[in-house]
Amino acid sequence: MNLAPGVRCVATTRRDNAFLLDGDDGYTLVDVGWASAPRRIEDELGSLGDIRRIVLTHAHPDHVKGAAELVARTGARLFIHEADAPWLAAGRVPSAGRSGVAGRLLDRIPLLHWAPVTADVLLRDGDRVEGAGGLRVIHTPGHTPGHIALHYAPGNTVLVGDAVFNRGAGLSTGPAALAADPAQRPSSLARLPRDVAAVGLAHGDALRGEDLARYHALLERMKTEPPVNGSP
Ligand SMILES: [Zn+2]
Ligand SMILES: [Zn+2]
Repeated sequence: MNLAPGVRCVATTRRDNAFLLDGDDGYTLVDVGWASAPRRIEDELGSLGDIRRIVLTHAHPDHVKGAAELVARTGARLFIHEADAPWLAAGRVPSAGRSGVAGRLLDRIPLLHWAPVTADVLLRDGDRVEGAGGLRVIHTPGHTPGHIALHYAPGNTVLVGDAVFNRGAGLSTGPAALAADPAQRPSSLARLPRDVAAVGLAHGDALRGEDLARYHALLERMKTEPPVNGSP
């Protein structure tokens, strides 16, 4: 689905999304998905050959498990925030990587580990992803220490990763137990651009047109969110 000019949303499962952005010399893929995701992306594009860059919003298995295969098959350069790079290289979320017991138990399941992979480029807040046609990094810690959102200027689209979920009852910041430091999430949401043409989410339908009012309402609501103590 074309979400905005230069932005294509690829459903890698029924609920999970990756994004393909037009760049100077080919595509930039934002997030990969589970191990089956490379095949879904190949089906969408007809070939993986034009993927030049892969930018990961954070190092959780549902975003990175297909990364090693995709890097091997495309030779694409791999980008992640410097604070999540050690997790990516370790092939799992570390034992202290979630605030709640439920999250920490999840990370012991072998199915939620991935083939370790080393990023080519470590990102920081405010960086522009070279060659990606105007892609800016917004550090949004909380869900993970190195979680990032990305603003793509040509389509005035923000890709929020797991900073915002669109499922169940509506928009939310997701379960606190699965986040590394839930108390950081309100201030991270305050850093997201408000006046955008579209919002791409890793989980759930994208937002544009009238649906953007729900995004604006969430940003407002988070300004007054009481502090979270980190317990599930
Ligand atoms: Zn996540
Ligand atoms: Zn996720």
